[in-house]
This record gives sequence, structure tokens and C-alpha cells, in this order.
Amino acid sequence: MTQQTPMPRQAPEKRIHNFKEVALGYTEEMAEQEAGRCLGCKNPSCVKGCPVGVDIPGFIRKIKEKSYVEASFIIKKTNSLPAVCGRVCPQENQCQKHCVLGAKGAAVAIGRLERFVADWESENACAVLHKPKHHSLGKYHVAVVGSGPSGLTVAGTLAPLGYKVTVFEALHKTGGVLRYGIPEFRLPRDVMDREIDYIKALGVKIIKDAVIGKSAGVMSLFDEGFDAVYLGTGSGTPKLLGIKGENLSGVFSGNEWLTRINLMRAFRDDYLTPFPSARRVVIIGAGNTAMDCARCALRTGAEKVTVVYRRSREDMPARKEEIENAEEEGVKFVFLRNPAEFLGEDALEGVRCAVMEPGEPDSSGRPRPVPVEGAFETIEADCAVVALGQNPNPLIRTTTRGLKMTRWGGIVTDPETCMTNIPGIFAGGDVVTGEATVISAMGAGRRAAKGIENYIRETYKQDF
Ligand SMILES: Cc1cc2nc3c(=O)[nH]c(=O)nc-3n(C[C@H](O)[C@H](O)[C@H](O)COP(=O)(O)OP(=O)(O)OC[C@H]3O[C@@H](n4cnc5c(N)ncnc54)[C@H](O)[C@@H]3O)c2cc1C
Repeated sequence: MTQQTPMPRQAPEKRIHNFKEVALGYTEEMAEQEAGRCLGCKNPSCVKGCPVGVDIPGFIRKIKEKSYVEASFIIKKTNSLPAVCGRVCPQENQCQKHCVLGAKGAAVAIGRLERFVADWESENACAVLHKPKHHSLGKYHVAVVGSGPSGLTVAGTLAPLGYKVTVFEALHKTGGVLRYGIPEFRLPRDVMDREIDYIKALGVKIIKDAVIGKSAGVMSLFDEGFDAVYLGTGSGTPKLLGIKGENLSGVFSGNEWLTRINLMRAFRDDYLTPFPSARRVVIIGAGNTAMDCARCALRTGAEKVTVVYRRSREDMPARKEEIENAEEEGVKFVFLRNPAEFLGEDALEGVRCAVMEPGEPDSSGRPRPVPVEGAFETIEADCAVVALGQNPNPLIRTTTRGLKMTRWGGIVTDPETCMTNIPGIFAGGDVVTGEATVISAMGAGRRAAKGIENYIRETYKQDF
């Protein structure tokens, strides 16, 4: 079979009225059928495409043998968030991109199989724990700042080795973007909760409502007895357009829009979170955040949702699958339009857009959008969401003296060890790369865990 085994999904006309998961997962039969497509290559190139180095042919072989617990054990050796990755990783640009089957047909659906194994394990209640190996390492304490995928990976990698890990999270809930950004219809909360529970079961302590840089400084964590600190604080400060009318009532940043819905549960009647009852919503941007905002707008009652993008369809950075899902649900796309002004007296009435045309390639290799002189169009709207991406929050930067930063506010690290210019302080994920992907943040977490281990071994070499 040259095609992937299809994944059952909720029908578009039904799913736009609920926040339940859209993709419904493989049955055992489907998983075995898809696993049967894997050639089990001796030199598997798919593994090279996985930033956390999951033994992909190894776990797929176990699915073929119906040994699902063993499959889960293999995955969890290097990935403590498999149900999350199986749902939101852009596998088409990672492991699946390197699958040899992709050259002539469709790559093996590795992400779907990973999800199947993680869900099977949970449904059959047999948590595969990797118990700490070296109890003597428990005297070394590591502080992780931020409970996004990057911080959780550092914690989930060091705890089974025996280190004492404490995660400090600024919000009242854990998970970072997985919780406040990605909506439930792509990543259900119980799926995330169970993966975080797994990390806690490894012995990791999580302290919420702890804003490092305010409630305690980064350097003071050493005074509190931590031997190393990992900064996985992400990039949570929204980029705005800086155009007239951006302060009008009805104009939101993507971050705020999604946080109100996902973290503050604005879509539920039993929560008091204020939320606009907008009919015509314009979303600005074309990445994953924009697709999530658009699809949330439909589910919260908007009649017309339009995504406005200054480039062309083929330049959209969002995952192809999410663009298709949005279109199926009724989201409209307007290309080569760039917002020039938000119109209205107090509240938003429309978005005035400059008409653009593709120009010469820019540094990203894509045609630079160039305004057509004097050409403008207005899209009527009572709500607009600016979803152009995020930069790191300045708090850590402004409160940690001497920490080397990039010009755009990211933390500078050694690419191999993830150590910053301050010995014992490590960093990774979006706070280093700018907004990227879950799996690249996790890959950095794995490298940093190795870097932290080596640092502790080197610093306390008399103990080893
Ligand atoms: C809406 C949206 C959709 C996305 N969809 C996808 C997708 O489908 N697939 C994909 O691969 N990627 C996606 N991404 C990108 C992906 O989510 C991020 O790259 C990833 O979450 C980065 O992980 P992180 O651990 O570096 O940071 P984050 O997930 O941002 O976590 C950082 C954590 O640190 C906490 N924190 C910050 N400052 C402090 C402090 N001073 N003290 C204590 N805690 C602090 C924050 O509260 C947060 O919990 C999406 C991003 C967004 C915004």
C-alpha cells in the first residue's frame, strides 16, 4: 500500500460546534496495518530526522508484534511526551521527511503510530516508568524554569538518571504553549495532564505560580541549593503590527485570544472569562497560531472568519494539515493583503489592507511582498486577532545581570551543551531559537540535560 492508513476524524460540520479532538486516532487494526508498511531499514534515516532520537523502527517493530508496552518503553527512553508529539509534531518536516517510502509514495505515518502507542498505554493503564537508576545522584539539584515541552524534557530526562529536579512555572497551570496556546481540539487536556503526571511520577517536583525574575532571581536559585539552572521560558510576548487603531476594542493579540479560550476556558458557560461575541473575525498571519485562532473563532460562534496574509498561499508557514482542517471548517483565506489600519471610533469596524504583489526573493527565499501603489481594500470586521508570532519575555533578560542575549532578546547558548555564558545556567527551546516547534524545544531539552549532567560531573568530579 503506497498510501498512509487514514486517520478517522470528526466531520467538519459537527466539529465546529465543539472543542473535542478532531483526529480520533488509530484502532489496533489500523496501527498494525500502518506499521506493516515500515520496511525496518537497517540504517534508518527517519531517526536522524527526530530531534530526540526515538528508535522509530524499534517501536514500530513492537507494534507489528502487538507488544505495545514494549513499544511504549522504547519511545519513552528518549521522549517523555509521546502522546503530545504524536499529535502536534510536524512529522512531515522531521522523521517522515526522511522515510525512504516517501520517495515513491507516502512516508510511514510515524506520528500517528507514536500517538497510538501512547494512547494504548494510557487506556490500558500500564504506565511505563523509567525508574531512577542512580540514587546517589539525588544530592544534585537542578532547577528548571518553565514547564513547556523544553523544560519538561530536561526534567523527564534527568529525573530517571537520579537527579532531583524542581520545575518553576509562572502560570497556575503547567505545559506552556501546549496548555495556553494549542487548543483542545488538537491536544486534549487530559492527554497533556497524563504526560505531565508521568513526569511527576518520575520524582519531578513542580512549583506553580513561581515567576522567576520576580518571586526569586535566577542567580538566587544557586543560593537555594540548586547546582544547575535550565531556562526554558519560551517566547510568550506577542509581536504586534504597530499600526493605527491597534488599541481599539475588538483587536486582540493571538496570545491573548488563545489564552482566554484555552487557559481561561472562555468557551465554557461555567467560566466568567470575558470574551467578545464577534460575528466577523479577521485573523492576521498564517502560522500555526493563526490557524488555531481562526478555528477557535469558529467554535466560539463567529459567522465569518477570514485569514489575511501578506504573502501567497504556498508561503504559509502553518502545517499543511492544519491549513486543510481550517479550510474544511469554513475559514476563508485572503492572500497578498497587508493590514494598514484598524478602522473604527471606539470599537473595531473593519481592517484596511494594502494590496500586495510578490517581489524579488527575500532572505527567507520567499518572494518579498511589495505594496501595489495606492491599492487598498477594507474587510469589515468586529474583531481582529494579530497572530504574527512571539518574542521572549524580557523579565529574565532584565533581571539576570551579565546573561548574554541576542539583539532580538533570545538567550545565547553553546549549541552542543546549551550552556549560557554564565557557568551552570543552561537554556533551550523558544527562548533561544525564537518561536519554533515542540520537538525542537524537546531536542534542546535533551541536549541540555546531557550538558547539565556533564557540568555536574565536572564540577563535583571528586564525587564521581
Ligand atoms: C498557538 C500555537 C500553536 C502552535 N502549534 C504548534 C504545533 O502544532 N506543532 C509544533 O511543533 N509547534 C507548535 N507551536 C510552537 C510550540 O508550541 C513551541 O515551539 C514550544 O511550545 C516551545 O516550547 P518551550 O518549552 O521552549 O516554551 P513554552 O511552551 O513557551 O513554555 C515556556 C514556559 O515557561 C513559563 N515561563 C516563562 N517565563 C517564566 C518565568 N520567568 N518564570 C517561570 N516560568 C516562566 C511560561 O509560562 C511557559 O509555561 C505552536 C505555538 C503556538 C503559540
